[in-house]
Amino acid sequence: MAYRVTFIPGDGVGPELSEATRRVLEATGVEFDWDVRDAGADVVEQYGTPLPDHVLESIRANRVAIKGPITTPIGSGFRSVNVALRKELDLFCCLRPCKSYPGVRSRYEDVDIVICRENTEDLYAGIEFEQGKPETGKLIEFVSELSGKEVRPDSGVSIKPISVSGTQRIGRYAFEYARREGRRKVTAVHKANIMKFSDGLFLQTMRELAKEYPDIQFEDRIVDNLCMQLVQRPEEYDVLVLPNLYGDIVSDLCAGLIGGLGLAPGANIGDGVAVFEATHGSAPKYKGMNKVNPMAMMFSGVLMLRHLGEREAADRLERAIAAVIAEGTHVTYDMKPTRDDPTAVGTSQVADGVIEKLQAGA
Ligand code: NAD
Repeated sequence: MAYRVTFIPGDGVGPELSEATRRVLEATGVEFDWDVRDAGADVVEQYGTPLPDHVLESIRANRVAIKGPITTPIGSGFRSVNVALRKELDLFCCLRPCKSYPGVRSRYEDVDIVICRENTEDLYAGIEFEQGKPETGKLIEFVSELSGKEVRPDSGVSIKPISVSGTQRIGRYAFEYARREGRRKVTAVHKANIMKFSDGLFLQTMRELAKEYPDIQFEDRIVDNLCMQLVQRPEEYDVLVLPNLYGDIVSDLCAGLIGGLGLAPGANIGDGVAVFEATHGSAPKYKGMNKVNPMAMMFSGVLMLRHLGEREAADRLERAIAAVIAEGTHVTYDMKPTRDDPTAVGTSQVADGVIEKLQAGA
């Protein structure tokens, strides 16, 4: 039976990337019944919002979605659709596998790291107090009174909540993922030496949880040390689990290790619901030019196939994309030695190349 999947083309370069991804997913032979839903700047006029209710309802009903990037217009007053989706659907884990493939121009080989970033807490919880506002003054006085520590009266304040339940949820996901995918080690990343009651709680909760998974190695690293080690010896790391802010930064660091944004896939995972999307944004300056790299979204499609239990098709599609990368003829400008390389192909030609490899049984 065909899988019913919510399909959100996105805006900017989103529709081109989505189309290329749809084509390669269908070429695996897995059947899909796409429930196409538009969101983003282009639907605001029709619905008065960039995230109409029917899009959320569709994802809630289908439990699986794949989406192209969506622009967050600066200063328009609209919330980011991407952030709103994560909040509305409580997509608590941002999963970002970072794997190097032969043929990619990168300083590193043998990187195979999976990032599990907590998506709902930490400094990203959105609890912020603006400098100079009366409520900020009140908060500063209250904090000084409670803690006996001075906060300068001309401060702005962002609150960093980290909970036991939030950490258990992301931690359990990381350990279960490691078990399911045959991974050997989970590393918890923190700054518990400084932030004892937020990062410290994260670390303590992770240590407790690790006892339930004796078959998976567990260790922890302080985030600054981890960054240095990732640059020196990325092959030593396997599954990383991080609070929101460190997760955001380390995700980009790891995308850099494997050759850049054009290759970094992602998934936002909640309880029984998952939205698959590339790490990169809508690159508006390239809209409609058939130029940018669809591989990050295609690899997100690979993750979706695995999530659906179609492991064999997922492996085939991954091998086909890897074969195109290794051959180096059907790749976009960002994978060439120089950005103006005349042999670079366009988005849809990458899909043609991948489909050829799939048909040849790569
Ligand atoms: P971006 O990722 O869209 O693009 C930055 C640059 O990276 C591009 O100009 C391009 O040079 C390169 N790039 C990005 N994707 C590429 C690809 N697939 N192939 C080749 N090169 C690629 O980041 P930005 O310019 O900061 O953001 C543009 C818009 O996208 C913003 O409105 C932002 O809010 C939004 N955004 C959306 C998502 C999402 O939908 N999940 C994620 C990040 C940013």
